Amino acid sequence: MSADCLFCQIADGRLPARKVYEDDRVLAFHDINPIAPVHILLIPKKHIASLLEIAPEDKELVGHIHMCAQKAAQVAGVEQDGFRVVTNIGKNGQQTVFHLHYHLIGGRQLRWDM
Ligand code: C5P
Repeated sequence: MSADCLFCQIADGRLPARKVYEDDRVLAFHDINPIAPVHILLIPKKHIASLLEIAPEDKELVGHIHMCAQKAAQVAGVEQDGFRVVTNIGKNGQQTVFHLHYHLIGGRQLRWDM
Protein backbone atom coordinates (compact mmCIF):
# COMPACT_ATOMS: atom_id res chain seq x y z
CA MET A 1 0.00 0.00 0.00
CA SER A 2 1.20 3.48 -0.90
CA ALA A 3 -0.31 6.27 1.25
CA ASP A 4 -0.67 8.88 -1.48
CA CYS A 5 -1.53 6.54 -4.37
CA LEU A 6 -5.00 7.25 -5.78
CA PHE A 7 -5.78 3.63 -6.63
CA CYS A 8 -4.47 2.36 -3.26
CA GLN A 9 -6.98 4.76 -1.70
CA ILE A 10 -9.76 3.35 -3.88
CA ALA A 11 -8.62 -0.22 -3.14
CA ASP A 12 -8.80 0.26 0.63
CA GLY A 13 -12.02 2.30 0.59
CA ARG A 14 -10.61 5.73 1.48
CA LEU A 15 -11.90 7.00 -1.87
CA PRO A 16 -15.21 5.88 -3.40
CA ALA A 17 -15.59 3.97 -6.64
CA ARG A 18 -18.45 2.31 -8.53
CA LYS A 19 -17.42 -1.28 -7.97
CA VAL A 20 -18.04 -4.01 -10.54
CA TYR A 21 -16.21 -6.89 -8.85
CA GLU A 22 -14.05 -7.30 -5.76
CA ASP A 23 -12.21 -10.02 -3.95
CA ASP A 24 -9.33 -10.08 -1.48
CA ARG A 25 -6.68 -9.26 -4.12
CA VAL A 26 -8.39 -7.41 -6.98
CA LEU A 27 -10.90 -4.60 -7.45
CA ALA A 28 -12.75 -3.75 -10.66
CA PHE A 29 -14.57 -0.42 -10.88
CA HIS A 30 -16.05 1.90 -13.50
CA ASP A 31 -13.60 4.47 -14.90
CA ILE A 32 -14.59 7.99 -13.82
CA ASN A 33 -14.04 9.29 -17.38
CA PRO A 34 -15.21 6.49 -19.69
CA ILE A 35 -14.16 6.41 -23.34
CA ALA A 36 -16.78 3.79 -24.25
CA PRO A 37 -20.15 2.58 -22.92
CA VAL A 38 -18.22 0.02 -20.84
CA HIS A 39 -14.94 1.21 -19.34
CA ILE A 40 -13.83 -0.69 -16.27
CA LEU A 41 -10.49 -0.56 -14.46
CA LEU A 42 -9.03 -3.68 -12.86
CA ILE A 43 -6.42 -3.11 -10.19
CA PRO A 44 -4.47 -5.32 -7.81
CA LYS A 45 -4.95 -4.20 -4.22
CA LYS A 46 -1.20 -4.59 -3.81
CA HIS A 47 0.65 -1.47 -4.95
CA ILE A 48 2.55 -2.19 -8.16
CA ALA A 49 3.48 0.94 -10.12
CA SER A 50 3.12 -0.50 -13.62
CA LEU A 51 3.68 -3.62 -15.72
CA LEU A 52 7.40 -2.88 -15.48
CA GLU A 53 7.29 -3.37 -11.70
CA ILE A 54 5.62 -6.81 -11.77
CA ALA A 55 7.90 -9.19 -9.86
CA PRO A 56 8.19 -12.99 -10.15
CA GLU A 57 6.11 -13.40 -6.97
CA ASP A 58 3.28 -11.42 -8.64
CA LYS A 59 2.81 -13.90 -11.50
CA GLU A 60 -0.15 -15.68 -9.92
CA LEU A 61 -1.76 -12.33 -9.06
CA VAL A 62 -1.43 -11.12 -12.64
CA GLY A 63 -3.06 -14.33 -13.89
CA HIS A 64 -5.82 -13.82 -11.34
CA ILE A 65 -6.46 -10.30 -12.68
CA HIS A 66 -7.17 -11.89 -16.06
CA MET A 67 -9.71 -14.24 -14.46
CA CYS A 68 -11.32 -11.20 -12.81
CA ALA A 69 -11.44 -9.50 -16.22
CA GLN A 70 -13.55 -12.43 -17.43
CA LYS A 71 -15.95 -11.89 -14.51
CA ALA A 72 -16.09 -8.10 -15.04
CA ALA A 73 -16.82 -8.61 -18.75
CA GLN A 74 -19.68 -10.96 -17.84
CA VAL A 75 -21.09 -8.51 -15.28
CA ALA A 76 -20.89 -5.69 -17.84
CA GLY A 77 -22.47 -7.89 -20.54
CA VAL A 78 -19.73 -7.49 -23.14
CA GLU A 79 -18.36 -11.05 -23.31
CA GLN A 80 -20.48 -11.99 -26.34
CA ASP A 81 -19.64 -9.03 -28.58
CA GLY A 82 -16.03 -8.67 -27.44
CA PHE A 83 -13.99 -6.02 -25.73
CA ARG A 84 -10.40 -4.87 -25.17
CA VAL A 85 -8.07 -5.09 -22.18
CA VAL A 86 -5.07 -2.77 -22.16
CA THR A 87 -2.53 -1.42 -19.70
CA ASN A 88 -0.67 1.84 -20.27
CA ILE A 89 2.98 2.13 -19.27
CA GLY A 90 4.97 5.31 -18.76
CA LYS A 91 5.01 8.55 -20.73
CA ASN A 92 4.58 7.26 -24.27
CA GLY A 93 1.97 4.79 -23.03
CA GLN A 94 0.04 7.76 -21.57
CA GLN A 95 0.00 6.25 -18.08
CA THR A 96 -1.35 8.86 -15.65
CA VAL A 97 -1.96 6.79 -12.51
CA PHE A 98 1.10 4.88 -11.37
CA HIS A 99 -0.64 1.88 -9.87
CA LEU A 100 -0.95 -1.08 -12.23
CA HIS A 101 -4.38 -1.11 -13.87
CA TYR A 102 -6.00 -2.76 -16.84
CA HIS A 103 -8.64 -0.91 -18.84
CA LEU A 104 -11.52 -3.16 -19.93
CA ILE A 105 -13.23 -1.29 -22.77
CA GLY A 106 -16.28 -2.31 -24.78
CA GLY A 107 -19.93 -1.78 -25.52
CA ARG A 108 -19.23 -0.38 -29.00
CA GLN A 109 -17.14 -1.25 -32.05
CA LEU A 110 -13.55 -0.38 -31.20
CA ARG A 111 -10.87 0.77 -33.62
CA TRP A 112 -7.18 0.29 -33.03
CA ASP A 113 -6.96 4.00 -32.12
CA MET A 114 -9.91 3.31 -29.75
O1 C5P B 1 -3.85 4.43 -18.10
P1 C5P B 1 -4.03 5.71 -17.33
O2 C5P B 1 -3.10 5.81 -16.16
O3 C5P B 1 -4.02 6.94 -18.18
O4 C5P B 1 -5.51 5.57 -16.77
C1 C5P B 1 -5.94 6.14 -15.60
C2 C5P B 1 -7.45 6.06 -15.63
O5 C5P B 1 -7.94 6.27 -14.32
C3 C5P B 1 -8.12 7.08 -16.54
O6 C5P B 1 -8.91 6.42 -17.50
C4 C5P B 1 -8.97 7.90 -15.56
O7 C5P B 1 -10.18 8.31 -16.12
C5 C5P B 1 -9.15 6.94 -14.42
N1 C5P B 1 -9.45 7.52 -13.12
C6 C5P B 1 -10.56 7.07 -12.40
N2 C5P B 1 -10.82 7.59 -11.17
C7 C5P B 1 -10.04 8.52 -10.65
C8 C5P B 1 -8.90 8.98 -11.36
C9 C5P B 1 -8.62 8.45 -12.61
O8 C5P B 1 -11.30 6.22 -12.88
N3 C5P B 1 -10.34 9.03 -9.45
